[in-house]
Amino acid sequence: MIGILGGTFDPVHFGHLRPALDVRQALALDEIRLLPCHVPPHRPQPLASTQQRTLMLQAAIAGVDGFVIDEREFERDGLSYTFDTLQSLRKDLPGKTLCLLVGMDAFRGLPTWHRWHELLNHCHIVVMTRPQAKFPEKGELAEYIHMHRARDAAMLRTQSTGLLWFQEVTQLEISATRLRALLAAGEQADFLLPADVLDLIHIQGLYGT
Ligand code: ATP
Repeated sequence: MIGILGGTFDPVHFGHLRPALDVRQALALDEIRLLPCHVPPHRPQPLASTQQRTLMLQAAIAGVDGFVIDEREFERDGLSYTFDTLQSLRKDLPGKTLCLLVGMDAFRGLPTWHRWHELLNHCHIVVMTRPQAKFPEKGELAEYIHMHRARDAAMLRTQSTGLLWFQEVTQLEISATRLRALLAAGEQADFLLPADVLDLIHIQGLYGT
């Protein structure tokens, strides 16, 4: 099984990396693929270029086992839809079970994603949650959870697509938005992201540094 974590990674921080590692360990995933988004459909274009975001990801995972970067979204023009990415991954990784990792905030927005009802035709979705997280109780997302939630993690290996799993992960209240604001204000961002990524940000003069 392979974990897929898409994001703008503008910049990558420990709030992406540690929860992804928690999921890798909890579900014994072969690897975590980090997929930087080229043209995000639901938000403004990232401040750092695609090349700069990839460089930061490379610095973040250097020497860490089980993490790889997948740049396939950079090869497609137009909006980077997760649905298209999953189709492409399935073609390249036949026989592999894909687990799409999303934070709870991203999961709540799922009904706005392109062809969201079809995502589970290509993967399982693993939501990185807090202990005792509150799930939507009404509406289409509540119904979606009711229909697809796996009873236990072992089910993710007995069928290759179609399940939803909620995995508790380390809670890190870090967001790229806050990091960019700290950096732009000239404050220290140490200990919120890997030191090598912070060095790169300063070398490249990113985010107003
Ligand atoms: P921004 O603040 O610019 O919106 P972000 O920090 O939320 O960025 P993204 O690259 O947009 O980072 O997030 C990619 C994925 O990582 C999403 O699924 C998001 O929910 C998840 N994620 C981001 N930060 C955390 C965090 N601190 N804990 C758990 N998941 C997170």
